[in-house]
Amino acid sequence: MLKILDDSARGYLCLDCDNSKIFDAESDLYRLYKPVKSGSAEYDFNNEIACPYSMKCYECSSENIGIEVSSDEIIKDHKLTVGHGMWLVGERWLLDVSDSDDLKDLIEIIFESEGEEKSDDMHDAYEDDGFDAWDWENETFSEAEYALVLVNIVSTGIIRQDEYGLGDEDSSYDNAQYIGIY
Ligand SMILES: [Zn+2]
Repeated sequence: MLKILDDSARGYLCLDCDNSKIFDAESDLYRLYKPVKSGSAEYDFNNEIACPYSMKCYECSSENIGIEVSSDEIIKDHKLTVGHGMWLVGERWLLDVSDSDDLKDLIEIIFESEGEEKSDDMHDAYEDDGFDAWDWENETFSEAEYALVLVNIVSTGIIRQDEYGLGDEDSSYDNAQYIGIY
């Protein structure tokens, strides 16, 4: 299910000016927090997974954005332009979100990329109780005993793309929420 874009593909690409490095975007950012050490109330995360849901070219403001998936194929109808189909997120992960639960797929690949196995538990917790609001400035959670915490932040700002994937910067956070599992 987890497909990585091959090295020859640039990923997101402005079809008007050929920029593939920098975009204005609205994104969901995901982080998987873990206790710094077992039983610690202090948590930290390794990676921030940027999942843009709207994007325009930073260089020429065009909203005509394709996804270059190989040296000879550019997808023009995708999640960002038509709301379904292929979606490029995080570390060059190419998802097909045509007829699936986007968040379930995302949780699975985030867990897989971190070597964690309880993605079903996290998805169940999401379906049972949803997200709780999170105070991102303090980076603390309501309970100290979580084994894993999935954080979602709504971000507006700049997305940079390089050979490692997408990175969020100079952004403002509108909303943050989390789910913890034991
Ligand atoms: Zn452009």
